[in-house]
Amino acid sequence: KQFLKGLPKVELHAHLNGSLGVDSLRDLAERLYGSAPEKLLELCFIRCEKDLDACFETFKFVHELTATAEGLRYATELAVRDFAQDNVQYVELRTTPKANAHYSRRDYLEIVIEAIIEARKKYPDILVKLLPSINRAEPVDVAEETVSLAVELAQSYPHLILGIDLSGNPAKGRFSDFAPIISKAREMGLKLVIHCAEIKNPSEVQEMLEFGMSRCGHGSFLTQKEIELLKQRNIPIECCLTSNVKSGTVSSLEEHHLKRIMEANAPKVICTDDSGVFDTTLTQEFLLATETFGLTRRQCVDLTLEAVHHSFATDQERKKMAERVENYAASLQ
Ligand code: IMP
Repeated sequence: KQFLKGLPKVELHAHLNGSLGVDSLRDLAERLYGSAPEKLLELCFIRCEKDLDACFETFKFVHELTATAEGLRYATELAVRDFAQDNVQYVELRTTPKANAHYSRRDYLEIVIEAIIEARKKYPDILVKLLPSINRAEPVDVAEETVSLAVELAQSYPHLILGIDLSGNPAKGRFSDFAPIISKAREMGLKLVIHCAEIKNPSEVQEMLEFGMSRCGHGSFLTQKEIELLKQRNIPIECCLTSNVKSGTVSSLEEHHLKRIMEANAPKVICTDDSGVFDTTLTQEFLLATETFGLTRRQCVDLTLEAVHHSFATDQERKKMAERVENYAASLQ
């Protein structure tokens, strides 16, 4: 575990509001309310309920804590702090811009951007990028607004906003309704990360694979043929072990599709998804993968290098990250 903790890890699938650990949720509640309502904190965690819909309900409680500009700003800093404390050297944070009485979707993104820039001054060893998310359970015009804001803000922050994520409850919304909008984002130079095959929906998976993407989120219900197709196209599958088991889309760690993906030698990355609400860390996810599938230290290093390779960082940033990983591995030999 010490080895995995010290490894300068790379996180490519992390939802901002899902990434606040228990201490951070407490710090956030204390900052906002003067004390942390224990009942609210309890509600922010997903137990092993194996119920995906119940998981999506949980986010509502975290969203209460980030529903003001101050809450959102501090939550962003805390999420960066949590990844930095786990020795994550690079994180692509994704988040769904929201609008309420305190902020518009534009404000939301601007608050998060400013908070990331500030947080990096405190935690200079971690590089942070941002992928605005489309929530497929929301109306299509919200997605349109998110994409136009992302395209516009990516011009001002080209090294920060790198792509668009399509997420939200996979049982809601239709991919075909969002395809033209995210296609526009791609034409404007943004990368696309798409939650795909999180639940069984073969026709939608087919549509998504035809449409294409830079990385595939979850992929739990991909057939072996589809995994081969992703391999041919060098599209990695973002594997989130604890998340999939706790939300019930995968029955156990032993049954996790990471095994099939590794056997097929297809591209993959190990990610947390929502380290906060699922009560995990990237170190813990590597540990589970190691214990379940017998990975060696070298395989963990190689998985990290694979994540470096599939990140949306610049060539120079990726070179530096890979060096950090290799130096760490060499220092322990
Ligand atoms: P936020 O976008 O920063 O508010 O992060 C939480 C949101 O991410 C949730 O409300 C969902 O829309 C999305 N999300 C988190 N985990 C998952 C997942 O496993 N599948 C699909 N969407 C998810």
